[in-house]
Amino acid sequence: MTAQPYNGLVTNRLQGRTAVVTGGASGIGLATARRLAHEGAHVVIGDICPDAVGQGLAEQFGGSFIRADVTSEDDVRAMYAFARTTYGSIDIAFNNAGISPDDDSSILDTGIEAWRRVQEVNLTSVYYCCKHVLPYMQAQGRGSIINTASFVAVLGAATSQISYSASKGGVLSMSRELGVQFARQGIRVNALCPGPVNTPLLQELFASDAEQARRRLVHVPLGRFAEPDEMAAAVAFLASDDSSFITASQFMVDGGIAGAYVTPL
Ligand code: NAD
Repeated sequence: MTAQPYNGLVTNRLQGRTAVVTGGASGIGLATARRLAHEGAHVVIGDICPDAVGQGLAEQFGGSFIRADVTSEDDVRAMYAFARTTYGSIDIAFNNAGISPDDDSSILDTGIEAWRRVQEVNLTSVYYCCKHVLPYMQAQGRGSIINTASFVAVLGAATSQISYSASKGGVLSMSRELGVQFARQGIRVNALCPGPVNTPLLQELFASDAEQARRRLVHVPLGRFAEPDEMAAAVAFLASDDSSFITASQFMVDGGIAGAYVTPL
């Protein structure tokens, strides 16, 4: 196991818990898988990346990998069955896999195929994941589900990605409703709403066009994009009993964007 420094943070608040992280082979998901493992959880990564890649990543923190396409109900079912069989419980589900392809842009230019593809990966997948993990959590009488929405679920962008924004709005309202429905069964459901995060996707876009970065950064009060580890810290909190009175929330980790009017120069 590779030791992770986290500024010296030592905690075992997720000791003995099992977490399933979709989209765990990259970006926010990978940072979170590492963080949850660091805090004591058994972590299963579910992703469409090649087996050798996923297994290599999971081995770094003593976790497991299962190849799962979250748009396939059968794969999602098999992913949770694998986690339950391997570790004996499923306490944390981080439903995080998502895409933001180039052919999803203005409503005027976005075709139905792109619209549907984004809805399938970003929204229908969260429906499948919640639907199939909830029975395990009901049987245990406890669980924490964290669904990755986005700040664009609550703010409009003139540089539109119409299906992406609509999908994240759906993730946010689905999470709220599930949080209310299952609260008295010991299951908490929250929507993580990240601001822009410094992942390869964002770096590629902005490396080629500095103006694109400037147009966005002006809206962020903290004056920078987030790092994946900052999302991971928020997810670890929502996964743990430290957030025991937080459910059905729109959990903003956005550097203040959603609260801003005029930002500091
Ligand atoms: P990323 O591209 O770095 O990682 C996404 C992962 O999801 C990849 O490992 C990919 O293989 C996997 N994946 C894609 N389709 C899949 C499928 N059908 N089944 C299983 N796995 C699949 O992205 P990221 O930036 O870490 O984003 C993670 C989540 O955070 C997404 O839901 C994204 O919409 C959301 N988000 C990202 C940002 C940002 O600025 N990066 C901001 C707000 C929200």
